[in-house]
Amino acid sequence: MDGGASSDSHISPKGKEEESNRTVLAILVGPPGSGKSTFCEAVISASRRPWVRVCQDTIGNGKTGTKAQCLKAAVDALNEGKSVFIDRCNLEREQRADFLKFCGSHTDMHAIVLDLPAKVCISRCVNRTGHEGNVQGGRAAVIVNKMLQNKEALNLNEGFSRITFCQNDSDVKEVIKMYSELGPADKLSPGEFGKKSKKESGQQSIMKFFKKSAREENSQKEKEGASSSGNGAGNEFPTLAFPSISTADFQFDLDKASDIIVESAQDFLKRVDNVRLALVDLSDKSRIISLVREKVMKKGIDSNRFITFVGDITMLYSKGGLRCTAIANAANWRLKPGGGGVNAAIFKEAGEALDIATKERAETLNPGSSVAVPLPSTSPLYQREGVTHVIHVLGPNMNPQRPNYLQNDYTKGCKILRDAYSSLFESFASVACLERNKKPKLVELKDKTSGESKKKENQEEVKSRNQNQTTTTSGKSKNKENREEVKSRNWGSWALALYNTAMDPEKYKDGLLEIADDFIVLNDLYPKARKHVLVLSRLNGLDCLEDAKREHLPILKSMHSAGVKWVKKFLSEDPSPHFRLGYHSVPSMRQLHLHVISQDFDSPSLKNKKHWNSFNTAFFRDSVDVIDEIEEHGSAKLSGEKLLEMELRCHRCKSAHPNIPKLKSHIAKCRASYPPHLLQNSRLLSASNNDLNIN
Ligand SMILES: [Zn+2]
Ligand SMILES: [Zn+2]
Repeated sequence: MDGGASSDSHISPKGKEEESNRTVLAILVGPPGSGKSTFCEAVISASRRPWVRVCQDTIGNGKTGTKAQCLKAAVDALNEGKSVFIDRCNLEREQRADFLKFCGSHTDMHAIVLDLPAKVCISRCVNRTGHEGNVQGGRAAVIVNKMLQNKEALNLNEGFSRITFCQNDSDVKEVIKMYSELGPADKLSPGEFGKKSKKESGQQSIMKFFKKSAREENSQKEKEGASSSGNGAGNEFPTLAFPSISTADFQFDLDKASDIIVESAQDFLKRVDNVRLALVDLSDKSRIISLVREKVMKKGIDSNRFITFVGDITMLYSKGGLRCTAIANAANWRLKPGGGGVNAAIFKEAGEALDIATKERAETLNPGSSVAVPLPSTSPLYQREGVTHVIHVLGPNMNPQRPNYLQNDYTKGCKILRDAYSSLFESFASVACLERNKKPKLVELKDKTSGESKKKENQEEVKSRNQNQTTTTSGKSKNKENREEVKSRNWGSWALALYNTAMDPEKYKDGLLEIADDFIVLNDLYPKARKHVLVLSRLNGLDCLEDAKREHLPILKSMHSAGVKWVKKFLSEDPSPHFRLGYHSVPSMRQLHLHVISQDFDSPSLKNKKHWNSFNTAFFRDSVDVIDEIEEHGSAKLSGEKLLEMELRCHRCKSAHPNIPKLKSHIAKCRASYPPHLLQNSRLLSASNNDLNIN
């Protein structure tokens, strides 16, 4: 418990008193009939802590109200120092996210999951009368089942400090007792509790390896949908959704464009199996869609493999039920957000993450070419839509007001447009290979016999097509089995670079500082400070901090000592910097790695808020604390990714700054002493640190 409080305190330093009177926002998660209201009433009547129950069913003067009303009521209560129960179903991540967003740093966010059998919930609904939410009688079964279908697994990464699962009535009783006994100054320990372990004997082993992500759930859902509605085989193929290139703002002739789309698509689908293309347009009156439809039918292209779809390309799954692996963006040559149309929409929906990931790949784009950018798992497009890649593509321009105007030269224009589509489709083929290769487990789950052969096929494909792409081929022959299990976690191709290095260091040894039996030391490719190295575990299956358990303490300790050793080396060359050793709560690269970073943060690679906050909030977990926590509780405390969105604050004096350049010029000068928290327990290493014995 102490560990939790102290790692918070360097975000927003507070006095001890304030710390002890934290409020709790507890979100009840469960379908109608799971007993949410009963739970709240039981706790409220017994507790010494002031609780307020916010219930959407009654918030509008005793009648059903809006989510906004719930949010306001919750925030008001928290501001008065009261703790809050949110009593609505909250089965979907998006529903929960709004509540989490509105809480300040004085509030602990809990989830209480009433995961009772659907039968129980339904029969309770059927039996009751006058329930506030008006879910009773025969409708109940339908509603409960529907809600349970849309249910999304909870994850501490959503921002909860604690999630308590109840599987049955006796669990519920216990948890009621626990919350009832929670005094105004008490705090429940963080983490996940009571998670299901019995029911899914088969799923259990798989769950160990899966980070449940929206993408996987979506694909599961789709499979269910596909089998029930007979939607055809196409649903299982990786799908590229693309807008018509160059026909909007670039004013390319629609008839010519539709010919090129259909021919390029047909060509591509002949060569590449098990993929699907979807031409998307916002309007159902779209001329290009109807032209393409006509021509596709004439040519007899398989409708499982080429479809036209009317909808918003950024909401194909959530609004249209169309699951796409990749979406194409009709980009501008500078690969910049904004402008209008598809480009603006995609950058807006994907969030800053796309802008950052794009810049890491390319600065500009030539007409007729494309670049595939893996979406970080933090991106809403990834989480909500299941999109793993955005492929930027630039077509020819026939608009005199825009750059690279072709003066109506359609010979050139058509060639460039063909190049654009073929580049786009090729990029997608690589993405599809990676993605397919990543989920053999899902295939196996569904159909054991065909899964085997499919898997082999995929591997062959990858081998033949991506021979020089190190991310897919390296380390393959080694650790084949483990690799497949863990691969199901959806790391993008670039996020595997460290993993590949760890599995096959000899191949990359030129860039490595040290190779030991259980770890490797290397320079961070995008150093965020003058000295920034990674100590990379070589243990296969230890992907990230979340995986680190007691059995890993020896390796965590040897990684820590290696880090300290390198700090000593750096300090012997230059005694001025301070160093921290720590892990990101949610890493962007697969394979557990310890960051060893000097506290100057003087680096052009430190470009944005996310970069800064990943090293200067509780998102960064000091190695010493991680080791302590695992020794004590068996796992390390993780912080949610929302910390990355926090305002920019100097890591020394804690002053706030509006943007990175201002922050950087401040930290270059700031000589305030480091926060007391960092000065304890050797979290901060410097030449004056006694533990180091530099001389
Ligand atoms: Zn990292
Ligand atoms: Zn400062």
